[in-house]
Amino acid sequence: MDSTVKLTNRTFSALDDLNAAMGSHAAWLKALIRGLLCNEAIDPCNLANDAHHLCNFGKWYDRDGKQLFKDEPLFEDLEERHQAMHDAARIMLRRHDAGGPIDAAEYDRFMDLAISFQMEARQFQYTLLQRVCAVDQLTGTGNRYALFHRLIEEKERAGRTEHPCVIALMDMDYFKQVNDTHGHIAGDTVLQATAQYVSRSIRKYDSIYRYGGEEFLICLPNTDLKSAEKRINHLREDLANMNIEIAPGTTIKMTASFGLGYLRPGYPIQDSIQHADAALLRAKDSGRNRVEVAHWP
Ligand code: GH3
Ligand code: MG
Ligand code: MG
Repeated sequence: MDSTVKLTNRTFSALDDLNAAMGSHAAWLKALIRGLLCNEAIDPCNLANDAHHLCNFGKWYDRDGKQLFKDEPLFEDLEERHQAMHDAARIMLRRHDAGGPIDAAEYDRFMDLAISFQMEARQFQYTLLQRVCAVDQLTGTGNRYALFHRLIEEKERAGRTEHPCVIALMDMDYFKQVNDTHGHIAGDTVLQATAQYVSRSIRKYDSIYRYGGEEFLICLPNTDLKSAEKRINHLREDLANMNIEIAPGTTIKMTASFGLGYLRPGYPIQDSIQHADAALLRAKDSGRNRVEVAHWP
């Protein structure tokens, strides 16, 4: 899933850009306050009706930010707040420019908007960072951080609603042979193709996480073991039939083994994983390319 790696890399560089833009906003705020306190001449840009396009943050927003974050509703709010802050600054600065004293209420309004703009920008950065930190860079699935976060939620939900949640541990069969025969890059491609296939095949409220090297965990909320076993068996068969292109013109087939168990409310998450893992070991011992279900009284 090369595109996911590119996406996360792009998000990191977009975060750097946003950071720099927020730095220039802080410099702008500092200069504005100094200008007022020290009675310096006011930058005519700050008096213009389109001041929010003329400051460095606004220039960055128009040139790059809008494009980088066009699908982010939080970022649109940020633009609105930015403009409102400049509008408030203009009212205050025009009064000052005309020689009058600054109105306390106008100053308060400006500072409130400036602070809330800055806080919202920090919140936006944090949200992006959290999203990037939850993704496995190679496969684009959730990583372990995201996995435990999700399992805590699902365990709580399963306890509260009595709708059971099943976890399926999946381990690629003879994966080491792929690396040994075709090289690590081919192994990486197999992991990406498999993860992508599983992600597309599961229900939209199911989720897949990279648990370790060539092991994944699929979380299936609102499902009992019997129907989960049936669905995972379909998935296993489909995977086994899939041609994975590891180089132009070269395809291979792979299989995986699965161990299923309930995510038990009232027990540590690790206990549920351990039972699914024991079932997975049985699937391996019974010849691989199989689904086994945990025995847990
Ligand atoms: P089994 O059927 O018993 O599961 O055999 P296996 O060969 O799949 O299992 P084993 O644990 O012996 O090997 C797993 C291999 O997965 C070893 C490791 O080098 C490889 N691996 C782990 N993470 C990655 C990765 O990110 N990329 C690649 N290419 N290989 C990886
Ligand atoms: Mg393994
Ligand atoms: Mg394996």
